[in-house]
Amino acid sequence: MDELKSIIRDIPDFPKKGIVFKDITTLLNDSRSFHRMIDLIAHRYVGMRIDQIVGIEARGFILGAALAYKLGAGITLVRKPGKLPSKTISKTYDLEYGTDTLEIHADAFKPGDRIIIADDLLATGGTVAAVVDLVGELGVEIVDCAFMAELEFLDGRKRLPDGKVFSLLKF
Ligand code: AMP
Repeated sequence: MDELKSIIRDIPDFPKKGIVFKDITTLLNDSRSFHRMIDLIAHRYVGMRIDQIVGIEARGFILGAALAYKLGAGITLVRKPGKLPSKTISKTYDLEYGTDTLEIHADAFKPGDRIIIADDLLATGGTVAAVVDLVGELGVEIVDCAFMAELEFLDGRKRLPDGKVFSLLKF
């Protein structure tokens, strides 16, 4: 795990002063590390019934699509406002830096679908907490929230469903 962690690059003062940005592109660039990262996360869910992975724009699509393919699930996109073409529901939330709004198609799921929410990194938890609220209106069962990395000092997992948070790499 330390090897995977060491490949993630720190970018100080991005996107603004005081933020140390965890740049996962260096991990994605490395074929062996990317493969290992996906396999290690997917392994946790093998043998479970997972109907949909919910991927959060934009870096959550990478983990989301790879996990969905590995687990034989579909992928549902959570996107920035105005990007999804059909009827949506939306939620505005606080970020570590600023605020944002996310949307999901209102007809994305079948009742009782078992889902995993996927994003690249858990920071304050505001983004995924908003997605938990969004999908909560759509009658699904959240199996887990899965992340490549987590900034533990921000304690974002306390804002997410108890016991339903997994991150591969903890900083
Ligand atoms: P949060 O809602 O605070 O958990 O923020 C999560 C989202 O913001 C994730 O999708 C990350 O991509 C991004 N993010 C927030 N803080 C950082 C950071 N320090 N390094 C890299 N990405 C971050």
